[in-house]
Amino acid sequence: NPIQVLLICGGGSSEHEVSLRTADFIERELQKCGDLQLTRVTMSAEGQLHDGSGKLRELRSDRLLYSSNGSAQPVDYVIPAIHGYPGETGDLQSQLEILGLPYYGCGPEASKLCFNKVTTKLWLSALGIDNTPYRFLCANTAEETAKARDALKRWGAIFIKASNQGSSVGCYKVTEEATLAQVLDKAFRLSPYVLVEKCLTVRELEVAAYTYKGELVITPPGEVCAPADTFYSYEEKYAENSRAETHVVAKDLSDAQLGWIYEASKRAFIGLQLKDLSRIDFFLTDEGDIYLNEVNTFPGMTPISMFPKMLQNQGHDFNVYLADLIRSAVNQTA
Ligand code: ATP
Ligand code: MG
Ligand code: MG
Ligand code: MG
Repeated sequence: NPIQVLLICGGGSSEHEVSLRTADFIERELQKCGDLQLTRVTMSAEGQLHDGSGKLRELRSDRLLYSSNGSAQPVDYVIPAIHGYPGETGDLQSQLEILGLPYYGCGPEASKLCFNKVTTKLWLSALGIDNTPYRFLCANTAEETAKARDALKRWGAIFIKASNQGSSVGCYKVTEEATLAQVLDKAFRLSPYVLVEKCLTVRELEVAAYTYKGELVITPPGEVCAPADTFYSYEEKYAENSRAETHVVAKDLSDAQLGWIYEASKRAFIGLQLKDLSRIDFFLTDEGDIYLNEVNTFPGMTPISMFPKMLQNQGHDFNVYLADLIRSAVNQTA
């Protein structure tokens, strides 16, 4: 019998559309595996699942996927291909844990820790991994936002980030105090915590960290280059006319820098108890300092995205990698 795989995409976050493109990639890859049978459903912003013909579907506690006419099909494995809420935030994974269904990617706790940019930093510091200097604000009050004003004075330029977004949604560069209040309002509308980071002039390096046939693999860093007049914003990530460039392998890094990134990635993967996949992003400053920027527990798999390209470059076919994870997870549960 083929393994019944349920691919869930969409979801309620600002990255709903990006998730559909990630799911397109995963679907195409898994169609190459004859022993897997894929069903794809899209989650609406309200949390309902719809199949390709728009019909309502429901995953119930008997681990069957129901149709509105009462018929049902078994589910052996779930791929929560959702960026942001409720996938990358760990909420869907909690539900799958309760159902006892194996799934692709990090568990609820690691997902939650990594998706929240504040807890990521606290955890990284606890693991002894350098990260960008920051303050964090827990309310949009005069007292709290004074911290952002002080940071701007001290650092000259800052990055304001909503703590629970991806794809650069809720990220704003601020260089003038006059715009600060307005930007903070926008960030606080998206999330209850807001991060204020020192704005660094950087090269942006990313590694894929994943489990291939039972072994942890950390690729050499690739690089994304945003145009000089902006940063790696939502538009530069996904717009048709994006000017961003990507390099699957970053050039001109010293052995010491490569070693540092490798060790930090490994420590983050193990310390945060990641599972199956992640993309770990670094900043290399003009002064030669390296900071871990963030851990993406369900990285994008769109045409511009680095994660699939870095696997490919490592000689690892995505479908072979994912099918192996699926078979061993299903065998362990059986
Ligand atoms: P992703 O799509 O990778 O999940 P994200 O939304 O989680 O991204 P970040 O990676 O934290 O957000 O920031 C988005 C982009 O903003 C970075 O790729 C970089 O171009 C820029 N950026 C973020 N923080 C800084 C900083 N402290 N200094 C300079 N540039 C920054
Ligand atoms: Mg991110
Ligand atoms: Mg992300
Ligand atoms: Mg990022």
